[in-house]
Amino acid sequence: MSSYFSSLYVHIPFCMKKCRYCSFYSVKWSEEAEQVFIKSILREMELCSELPHLFETIYVGGGTPSSMSPKTLERLLNSLLTNFRFARELEFSIEINPATVDLEKINIMRDFGINRISIGVQSFNDEELRFLGRLHSSKSAIDTIELVMRSGFENISIDLMYAIPFQTVESWMNSLRMATSLKISHVSIYELTLEENTLLFKDIYSGKVSLPHEKDIVQMYLSGTEFLQSKELIKYEISNFAKKGFECRHNNNYWQRKPYLGIGPSAHSFNGKERFHNPSDLLKYSAILKYNSLPHILDYRVDEKESLKERLFLGLRTKDGVVLDSECLLNLFRAFEEENLLKIVGKRVFLTDKGMIISNELFAEALLHIENCPVCRQE
Ligand code: SF4
Repeated sequence: MSSYFSSLYVHIPFCMKKCRYCSFYSVKWSEEAEQVFIKSILREMELCSELPHLFETIYVGGGTPSSMSPKTLERLLNSLLTNFRFARELEFSIEINPATVDLEKINIMRDFGINRISIGVQSFNDEELRFLGRLHSSKSAIDTIELVMRSGFENISIDLMYAIPFQTVESWMNSLRMATSLKISHVSIYELTLEENTLLFKDIYSGKVSLPHEKDIVQMYLSGTEFLQSKELIKYEISNFAKKGFECRHNNNYWQRKPYLGIGPSAHSFNGKERFHNPSDLLKYSAILKYNSLPHILDYRVDEKESLKERLFLGLRTKDGVVLDSECLLNLFRAFEEENLLKIVGKRVFLTDKGMIISNELFAEALLHIENCPVCRQE
C-alpha cells in the first residue's frame, strides 16, 4: 500500500432492532457484544496507525453509533484521536439515531471534536416510521434535531427516504417541508431500494405490500429536488443537498476516489490500487485481531478499466460531473445528450435532472461499453 489514506470510516455494528428495509451489517446491541467490539477495534486502530495516512475526514457510521454506552463511546473517540494523524481542518462526522441518543452522548461527541452530526430520521410521518420498523417517532426526531442544535452543532444532516410503500407525494413533501422549517444545513434523500435478506424484500415478493407506482416515485424525486433547491439547499450529488459550505467532505472524497481506510466489522477500504473489506461478522473480525493481524479481505485490484468505470460511476453522480479523455465514450454520451439525459461541455460530462432519474440505466450502458470496447480499455 503506497497511497496515503485521506479519510477514515468507522463501522459501529450495533442496532437495537433491525429496520425492515436495511441490509447493512449489524447485530443486536448487548453489553457483551459491545465489549468484544471495543476491545477489537482499539487493537485494529493501533495496527492501522502504522499505515500511511493523514485524515481530512472521519465518519463514524453503522449500524447505530449512538447505541454505544457513553463510556464505550468515549473510549472509541479517545483512541481515534490518539492513534491517528489529522489534517488541520478535520471534518469529523457521526451518525445518530433519535431512539438511542441523549444529551450526555451528544456532549461527549462535541467534547471530542465531532463537528458534523448525521441523523437517521427517514420520515416525519409516524405511520411511515412504524412501517419501516424505526424505533423513534416524528416528535422524537424533531426533539433530537433541536437538542443537537442547542448543543452547538451547526453542521447537521438528516436522511429522508422516499418510495416507501403507502407513501404519497404529499406526505413525502410534508417531510421535506418539516426538514427545511427546522433549518437543517444538509439533507440526503434516498429512494427505498429492495435489498435481499430484508423483511421488506419478503413482504414485497409475497405480495403483502407493494412499492409506490413508478410515476409517483419519479414525481417524488423531481418535486423533492425542486423544493430543496428553492430553499437554497444545493444539489451537489444525486441524493445530497447542502447549504453552501456544508457539503459532506467525506463523501466528496469517496466520489473523487481518494484513498480511505475502513475499520470495524464489514468496513470497506480503498488504497488507490485495491479495494478490500473487513469480515461482516463481529466474531470472525475479533478472532483475526486477537492474533494482531489486520482483518483485510481483498475484493479486487483496480486496473485501468476498473479505474475508468469507477471514475465514471462516481463522478457522474456529482454536480461537477466527470472529465473524460475517451473520444469513444464521449461519442456514446452524445447520443444521451440528444435525449437531454446529460450535458457535455468540452470533455466534462454532467447528468441532467432527467438523467439522474435513470442514472442506473445510463451507468449500466456506459459500463457495458467500457467492458467490451478495446479502445476505452487503453485510455
Ligand atoms: S437503518 Fe440504521 S438503525 Fe435501521 S437497522 Fe439499518 S443500520 Fe440499524
